[in-house]
Amino acid sequence: MPSLTINGRVLEVAQGATILEAARSAGIEIPTLCWYPKLPVAGNCRICVVSVDGQGKLVPACATKVTEGMQVATESEAAVQARRGVLQFLLARYPADHLLDGGNAKPQNVFEAYVVRYGVRPVPARQRLLGLRRGDERPGDPMISHDMSRCILCTRCVRACEDIQVVGVLDVAYRGEHAQIVVGADGDPDKAGCTWCGECVRVCPTDAIYEVLPRQRLAGREAAVAADPVVQSVCPYCGVGCRIELHVENNWILKVDSPSIEGETPNQGSTCVKGRFGYDFVQHRDRLTAPLIRKGWVKRQGRWVWEGPSGPERRSGPWQTIEGEGQQPKPKAPPRATGKRLKDLPLLERLAADIRDRAATPPQWYEPFREATWEEALELVAQELNRLHQEHGSDAVAVFQSAKCSNEENYLLQRLFRAWFGTNNVDHCTRLCHSTSVSAMQAALNTAAASGSMREVEEASDVIFIAGANTTETHPVFGAAIKRAQRRGAFLIVADPRRIELARRADLHLQMQPGTDVALFNAMLNHILASGLEDRDFIARRTKNFEAVRRAVAPYTPERAQAITGVPAGLIRQAAERYARGPNTSTIWAMGLTQHLTGHDMVTALLNLILATGMIGRWGAAMMPVRGQNNVQGASDMGAIPFVYPDYQPVSDPAAREKFARVWGVEPERMSLKPGLKVTEMSRPGSPIRALYIMGENPIISDPDIAHAEAWFQSIDFLAVQDLFLTETARYADVVLPGASFAEKTGTYVNTERRIQLAHQAITPPGQAKADWQIIVELSNRIGLPTTFRSPEEVMEEIRRVAPSWAGVTYARLEGAGLQYPVPSENHPGTPFLFADRFPTEDGRATFHPVEYTDPAELPDEEYPFVMSTGRQLYHWHTGTMTRRSTGLDAREPTAIVEMHPDDAAELGVSDGDLVRLTSRRNSVITSVRLSDRVARRQVFVPFHFREAAANLLTSPVLEPHAKMAALKVCAVRIEPAQVPAAV
Ligand code: SF4
Repeated sequence: MPSLTINGRVLEVAQGATILEAARSAGIEIPTLCWYPKLPVAGNCRICVVSVDGQGKLVPACATKVTEGMQVATESEAAVQARRGVLQFLLARYPADHLLDGGNAKPQNVFEAYVVRYGVRPVPARQRLLGLRRGDERPGDPMISHDMSRCILCTRCVRACEDIQVVGVLDVAYRGEHAQIVVGADGDPDKAGCTWCGECVRVCPTDAIYEVLPRQRLAGREAAVAADPVVQSVCPYCGVGCRIELHVENNWILKVDSPSIEGETPNQGSTCVKGRFGYDFVQHRDRLTAPLIRKGWVKRQGRWVWEGPSGPERRSGPWQTIEGEGQQPKPKAPPRATGKRLKDLPLLERLAADIRDRAATPPQWYEPFREATWEEALELVAQELNRLHQEHGSDAVAVFQSAKCSNEENYLLQRLFRAWFGTNNVDHCTRLCHSTSVSAMQAALNTAAASGSMREVEEASDVIFIAGANTTETHPVFGAAIKRAQRRGAFLIVADPRRIELARRADLHLQMQPGTDVALFNAMLNHILASGLEDRDFIARRTKNFEAVRRAVAPYTPERAQAITGVPAGLIRQAAERYARGPNTSTIWAMGLTQHLTGHDMVTALLNLILATGMIGRWGAAMMPVRGQNNVQGASDMGAIPFVYPDYQPVSDPAAREKFARVWGVEPERMSLKPGLKVTEMSRPGSPIRALYIMGENPIISDPDIAHAEAWFQSIDFLAVQDLFLTETARYADVVLPGASFAEKTGTYVNTERRIQLAHQAITPPGQAKADWQIIVELSNRIGLPTTFRSPEEVMEEIRRVAPSWAGVTYARLEGAGLQYPVPSENHPGTPFLFADRFPTEDGRATFHPVEYTDPAELPDEEYPFVMSTGRQLYHWHTGTMTRRSTGLDAREPTAIVEMHPDDAAELGVSDGDLVRLTSRRNSVITSVRLSDRVARRQVFVPFHFREAAANLLTSPVLEPHAKMAALKVCAVRIEPAQVPAAV
């Protein structure tokens, strides 16, 4: 390790480190403009020059490697003079008059702060030879705007877009004094492929590219650089779990930034559009600010009694059901906003007004409720849950937990229902997400989490195999890491029926018919075995039951798979060989694989491929089921599933029951050894559930066959919902309890790579709303289960007592980048990858399970000739409760759409934006056409975020047999042109 001296301090640094890296590692600041963490070094601005070896020799610190014995002075007279010259030069066209005449105290950005720090006096604008650059170029965009008069051409934005996000929307055009940053070829960011990630906003040192919302909020006021309090948090959307910083002003989130930590954070400073701009839902006018009780509940002689209408009228209201909304003709969708249209302010204002009216909770939804005190609301919930439990037994009570709430909150809620009500009817949205992954992984490996880390995929995988995961839209920061990996040289194979972005970029795209994955994976393994490419040593030492799989895949020749999947046999062979040769292959999958009638089999076939080639258990060979919501992993870890306690300890194990009963202060016999009902089973005909408590879920939009689900929710005896908004589900509740958003409470979340991260409270909840953990503590005590926690940290102390994999987790240790569990002790550093030596089974071996291909639950026919699949879009999340209340996100995708191949649209006589009616064997909805060659002929894609054209009205209620997953990815539909209302 070479050593050097910086400003008199002796430092040892890694071989190959630059002077800048050495200085930063020691906390010595050297000014930078064109340099930025994670960007390739440009070395052209020269603001980071330092003196070396005491001879007045100046070198750029960012581009000069440390040599043994080097003497560096960062603020020598020569260095300071050189910096002043650089700043004076950059000021030549910069609007800096506000820094004259006493304005020095108020630098507005990083560049101006350097100008002030080095005492450089700008030349007044009227005395300059060169005019300012052109100013604001994109008025009207609700998220990002440009004031290019402030641009100093450091090109950070261009390189961040190209090298970090791998999008390449920005460029430097023209030469000399005419040089400027341009957006795409014609200024239209959409045509150039912009994803509005805001990486350019993050890296711009002059705010020439800036976020609109904070600027609007601060209009007319002075905004000092980073003067507002900054609170560490975690993005509330997807399972990547990006670390973010909330900038707060007067109990208001002013903006979201991301720490430029060069360490182990999942995002290393990046976010996607949702993480950076999708935070204004927190302050949306629709937030619930007081508990609500359905009118009809009255208190008589100390008890609550229902005196409202009975029967179907009881939960009706002055609204249409989801089914009703889906049948209504709608205004023709406005065309997607493009750069040109964004300049058309009147249109944008109309669009924004339209969004506010449509996305906000309709006022009539509140009519069946009255505001109540917490005392009233909690008393009523406790009374009715206890009453129905006593009258109908433990099987009659159930809880839907939340993949958006913290670990502590999920732990507390399952603790209440298991310990007090003695029920394991405890589940959450993992049922509709990765439950088939969990069942398949449990069977093969006795585990349910990813084996590896996102970082190893980016840095160490030679081959990346992605099946049924649209990562650049659903987990965009991980998607960017995969693109960077491919740029590094990794070979990318994508198995997906759609030509999504990664499929277009892939070295091999296996575009199979939907639902045929088992045949594809079996054929890949067939060819691997025929070519002798299996890892015999791994199979012999680490697995069992291989011969059964060898026999099972024998009939799946690539030619037979071609006939089933539509993928040419030659491509299957190529993919199989590349996969098996690695040397390090990572395997990534998501809901494109899991949400099928045969989802368990599909994941099992993929696991067989992983095990037969030994692509697991070392850095670079990761097994990654990419988790959907921000805490779906954590909610599962905390026991929010019907068959396990926290840390996957079976509820059917008397010893586990004894242990938890002791900690929770109840008799073991009070707790059930019987696994509970799953979410998708609770609303089935014959369900015993009479009382349901829901925390932060909206099943009426996310459940399959919504019309049936909505009828069931209307029929149960008691429904309590704890949420931020009066959602489509909450409007049927007896009691609605106002919870807190991620920014309004402290707690921990687990991302898709098992990383436990701590998010701090930044603001207080609105009105009387409370942190969800507080609500559960108060409810538990009122119901009868003594619960004394005074903070989420105290809850974590109990979690680590009962969950062996979390034994070493403390809040203090989670600050920064968090810890990847297992963390079995307080001095354990966490576990970036698993299974190096053994699997967590009794004999340490994984088990192969043979699987056969069977047809999807629904096949197209003459009456229903299209195959519809459902999924997420880049700008929205899940049932849209948050993203449809975020101005910028909803402006990008304001309406429901169906992606349709242009040739199919031409046959139907419809074009982009036209309305069509989609009809399945269950129901129909009207939505707008979006022409897209991402879908193959006779296939369509419908996002499930929009209640007015709810995709799940159409989907099948058939359940996968192992995990009770709904078959959401294959649904046969017919499509016809629909009428545009005359008024539009
Ligand atoms: Fe949030 Fe996921 Fe986007 Fe990261 S990638 S900012 S976690 S939505």
